Amino acid sequence: MDSPAGLHAVAAPHAGLQARAWQVLEAVTDPEIPVVTLRELGILRDVRTAADGVLEVVITPTYSGCPAMGQIEDDVRAVMQREGLEARVVTQLAPAWTTDWITEAAREKLRAYGIAPPGRCSTSAAAGLAGSAGAPSALLRFASPRPGQQATVPCPRCGSGNTTETSHFGSTACKALYRCLNCMEPFDHFKPY
Ligand SMILES: [Zn+2]
Repeated sequence: MDSPAGLHAVAAPHAGLQARAWQVLEAVTDPEIPVVTLRELGILRDVRTAADGVLEVVITPTYSGCPAMGQIEDDVRAVMQREGLEARVVTQLAPAWTTDWITEAAREKLRAYGIAPPGRCSTSAAAGLAGSAGAPSALLRFASPRPGQQATVPCPRCGSGNTTETSHFGSTACKALYRCLNCMEPFDHFKPY
C-alpha cells in the first residue's frame, strides 16, 4: 500500500478532479437507508489519485460481510461513470468502520426516518481516527470494548425510553428490531459497533 505522503505528492495536480468526485459522490446514498449518504455514514473514506493518475474512491464496509457493499460499489461506479470520471473503487478494511463515524446530521436523519441511531462508543472512535491504518481490523476490535451496553434506546417516534429489543437482527444484520412500549410501534435500531 502507498504511503499517505506519496499519495499527496501525486494528488496535487488532480485536486480539481478530486473535488468534483467528492461533489458527485455527495449524492450517493446508502442502498438500505436512502435518507443518508455514504459520506455521512462514514463509508466513503477518501478520494485520491493513484500513481497511474486514476482516481480511487476508498470505501470501508460497515459490518464485515455486509451484503450491501456490492451494491455500494456498483452505485459509486455508476455515478462516477455518469459524470465521465474514470475511477476505481478501493475497499479499505483498516481501520475498521465504527458507528462513531456516522455524522450528527445523519443521526438526526436516521431518527426522522424511524431508525434509532447508535449510541457513541468513544473508545473505538479514538482508535479509528488515530489513523491505525495497517493494524489488522480484528486487533482493533479486540482492543475496543464491545459496545452495545447502551442503557436505553429511545423510541425514534415518541422519544420514550421505555423500549425493548424484540430481535437482535432486524431488517438487516446491521440493525436490531425494537418495540416501543409507550406508543407500541416497532422500530429499527442501528446497532453501535
Ligand atoms: Zn414510541
